[in-house]
Amino acid sequence: VREAGGNQIVALSADRHRELNRAALLETRLLKALDEKNLHVLYQPQVNTQTQKICGVEALVRWDDDVVGSVAPGELIPLAESTGLIHNIGNYMLREACQQAVSWKKAGTPITVSINASVREFRDKNMADVVLQTLAETRCPAELIQFEITEKFALEAELVGSIQKQLETLQEAGVSFVLDDFGTGYSSFRYLQILPISAIKIDDTFIQAIEKSEKTQKLVESMIQLGKTLDLTIVAEGVETTQQLKWLQTTACDILQGYAICKPIAVADINKRL
Ligand code: C2E
Ligand code: CA
Ligand code: CA
Ligand code: CA
Repeated sequence: VREAGGNQIVALSADRHRELNRAALLETRLLKALDEKNLHVLYQPQVNTQTQKICGVEALVRWDDDVVGSVAPGELIPLAESTGLIHNIGNYMLREACQQAVSWKKAGTPITVSINASVREFRDKNMADVVLQTLAETRCPAELIQFEITEKFALEAELVGSIQKQLETLQEAGVSFVLDDFGTGYSSFRYLQILPISAIKIDDTFIQAIEKSEKTQKLVESMIQLGKTLDLTIVAEGVETTQQLKWLQTTACDILQGYAICKPIAVADINKRL
């Protein structure tokens, strides 16, 4: 296999060759999995910091393929983003989340379900319509659905207006938005300034350094204060130790998520905890 770069033709290294083969295989298998609904969802509890009662869950995609084995989101999502299949995954996760949210509401234990979405997904001018339609079809109250948006990419100037409009339309309908991985991205402040965000999720890299560094503690305290000044709900992700949990309980952080509370689990296991 050869890769053309401009007029040059470059012989591929064995590694790059293997990478391309794997990507091609994964893409074929992913298409099949989407077609056959062979993806599934695990839910990780989000709890009130003080009472530790479940107030929501984050929906996380899982893919166990017969041929390629289980593919972690860390490999799956970038692949899906580069092939455009992220829209299919997004639609699948949204529908699953809505159906599940309705089922928890019917059981008398309504909880918020958070779905991950790259801001790139909101480049699609139909995104708000697709979401509203899915909410209607599943009879899911918009208030039960939340999008966690990441700032992996800088906002492209020419798309800002459109993305803003999509999010505002959804917010008016009752859907809310959380700024995920807060503190690590390109443009946290810009996002907070122009997008209808109601919560920030402090990135796990900060949370996990709490015990080790006083500087990190001060950083986290400042993030919480900033969020409170802006009337935002504060979520901490990746809470792994009792020490981190106890420390966060001394702050104004509202919601906790992480292995110290519970790992991502199947619906039946969430039900046992509600
Ligand atoms: P994220 O949104 O930051 O999600 C949290 C990740 O941290 C999840 O990994 C979760 O299993 C893991 N985690 C939870 N508690 C802890 C903890 O205490 N310690 C540590 N070290 N990790 C913890 P996962 O499920 O592998 O997902 C990785 C990333 O893939 C997610 O990061 C998210 O950005 C993306 N992702 C997952 N599902 C979807 C999806 O349906 N759509 C999109 N667009 N992205 C998704
Ligand atoms: Ca997330
Ligand atoms: Ca995150
Ligand atoms: Ca993170």
